[in-house]
Amino acid sequence: MKIFRYAMITVALVAAVIFFLPEPDGFPILEYHQVTDAPLDPEFEVYNVPPAEFAAQLDYLQAQGYTTITLQDFMRVVHGKASLPDKPIVLTFDDGYADNYATMLPILEAHGMTAVVYVITNEVGNAGYLTLDELKDMQRRGLEIGSHTADHLPLTTLDSATRLNQIRDSKIFLEWSGLQTIYSLSYPNGAFDSQVEEILRQSEYLTAVTGEAGLNTLQTNPYELYRVHIRKPRFGLTEFKFRLWKAKLFAKLRNIFWAPAQIQGK
Ligand SMILES: [Zn+2]
Repeated sequence: MKIFRYAMITVALVAAVIFFLPEPDGFPILEYHQVTDAPLDPEFEVYNVPPAEFAAQLDYLQAQGYTTITLQDFMRVVHGKASLPDKPIVLTFDDGYADNYATMLPILEAHGMTAVVYVITNEVGNAGYLTLDELKDMQRRGLEIGSHTADHLPLTTLDSATRLNQIRDSKIFLEWSGLQTIYSLSYPNGAFDSQVEEILRQSEYLTAVTGEAGLNTLQTNPYELYRVHIRKPRFGLTEFKFRLWKAKLFAKLRNIFWAPAQIQGK
């Protein structure tokens, strides 16, 4: 019982320390996949947000005063060509599912919001995935289209020639198919290293998103942007608020443990 008491005291102390830490700077990037009631593959049900839940989440963000931006908007700010809105937030969608056009886009536009959609280029036009015409139309409507590589292989498991192909060919495919310049990449399975970042720089990508929770500032490495994953909620909007809080919590913890390294490193 003594151990239990010590454990409780430790948890309470840690919670108090976290609670009283200063509010971290930075904006969240949310990671979505499908927006539908019927996921393409039932095995990936957890990556699927039902449309009604998605609409409620956007209502909440709107009520909280958030303004959605794209990562191109963010890079304009980094280069001093624009300024950030009061409470920026980025909505991203991985894999390039067909419902991102049929279901997600109308809900997004009803809220006057924008997003970034990352496509696996070898899936474009396949059953259940976005077509080139849909991607072009989304770009016309102000969404940013990014690459999720050609085949969704974790880049760190590949040799350097294959890494380069996956990163560069997916960008070239989209641009030669008539889309405007592709500037952003989402790492498959969140896997990246410094060599992958170097290939991104050489291939003229400006940003890349990870799967690591946190908040982003003008000082964040643009090839290691933090994202918080929005899964199929079991507890409705409460869970969504918890995910936003998780991004903030990780930002707080990074400020204590990792901030000095980041400043020295870049
Ligand atoms: Zn993915």
